[in-house]
Amino acid sequence: MAKPRGRNMPQPLSTNNQPTLEDQFDGPKRRAYDEDCGFVIEENFQRFNACNDVFSRVQWDEGVRSEKGINWFKSMFTHGLGVRNTEGYRAKDFALRNAAWVGSNLLIERNLANGRHDGFLDDLTGYAPPAPVKIEIEDPAEMAAELKQVARIFGADLIGITSTDLRWHYNRRFSAKSRSEKENADCSELPNCIVIGTEMPGKVIQTFPSALAGTAAGFGYSKDGLALMSIAQFIRNMGYRAIASLNDTAQCIPYAIQAGLGEYGRHGLVITKQYGPRLRFGKIFTDMPLAHDQPVKFGVKEFCDICRRCADACPPKAIPHGEPDGALHNQSNFVGIKKWNVDGEKCFKFWANQGTECGICIRVCPYNKLPETKLGKMYFRNWKWLAGTRLRRLALWLDIKLRFGERFKPDWWWKNRPGW
Ligand code: SF4
Ligand code: SF4
Repeated sequence: MAKPRGRNMPQPLSTNNQPTLEDQFDGPKRRAYDEDCGFVIEENFQRFNACNDVFSRVQWDEGVRSEKGINWFKSMFTHGLGVRNTEGYRAKDFALRNAAWVGSNLLIERNLANGRHDGFLDDLTGYAPPAPVKIEIEDPAEMAAELKQVARIFGADLIGITSTDLRWHYNRRFSAKSRSEKENADCSELPNCIVIGTEMPGKVIQTFPSALAGTAAGFGYSKDGLALMSIAQFIRNMGYRAIASLNDTAQCIPYAIQAGLGEYGRHGLVITKQYGPRLRFGKIFTDMPLAHDQPVKFGVKEFCDICRRCADACPPKAIPHGEPDGALHNQSNFVGIKKWNVDGEKCFKFWANQGTECGICIRVCPYNKLPETKLGKMYFRNWKWLAGTRLRRLALWLDIKLRFGERFKPDWWWKNRPGW
């Protein structure tokens, strides 16, 4: 198996199995669909090699690997690592943050001996194979509606369905055991993709940067993993095939956009109408017949054009201030898509230095609000409407004036117990 090559090469390590843009749909149809999604795909487009993901590079790339980076991974399992006498980074904060990761860590641990890293490098190993006899599905639209109900029971907050699009699938994946690349899961005979979004706790997110706020990321993954496993098993119990995936196998962001869950934001995250960027996404590839959803637009691109709150607030300046130009910072960027690209190396270095996750860009995003009162809900509904109109500068001004996105003190969170 080929070893990953050196850094400073903004390209995937392998170029085999790369579909042309015409592989799945004819060109004009695909281009019209991409336009609806807001994707600007260029001639030099390449599928991404998961070995180039910055979290994989920490394992093999000396240019990214550091003691602090390795300790960031270890801190989830090691009492005391990262703890210091600073508000938000005390033992109690890490106790909560590390407990939140337990669900997703259990998913990883059950297959480590087999060289698998479920949910992050490998798809989620199925609990049981499909039933030998398929339950007949006469109406894919009816089945899609039923499946969304099932997904909600299992904890999904948003659900969308789209076609499998192999452009977003990694051409190779990374093996943490051998520190080399390996075959990705084959989803080419599973034509449908179910995308789920699970909400992350908003009040702790307001305390970013802190270990306390890392709870949001950990619990988001844990919740997502359980929901994906359960939905996939429901599909198998119906007699159909299902491959469930968290961060592994394919990129979640383009799939979430295709499935109509939201639009792409400057901070490189999907902004949804319901929860803004405060979600974790996962997906399930299946041959169950399902009707598809359509992409949505509610003015996010135009709003991000005039807003720089995430770029201004990002401590290592990893988020671009300019136009979406697809500029490559390093090999952890996707090649051939004209979009806002975040510098993953700078971002991860900040995480490693903090000893925990960061989500300041989520905290400050004006689409991230957690209204509880009737008045608050009404304000947010009207604010979103305003942000989607030509008066978007007024919406931005209001957001800054009303001091949304300001940090809550972690000790305040513990003392006042505002909840989720
Ligand atoms: S997570 Fe933090 S470091 Fe990374 S892009 Fe967002 S604000 Fe910047
Ligand atoms: S903070 Fe502003 S620029 Fe950044 S993603 Fe949110 S809306 Fe867009």
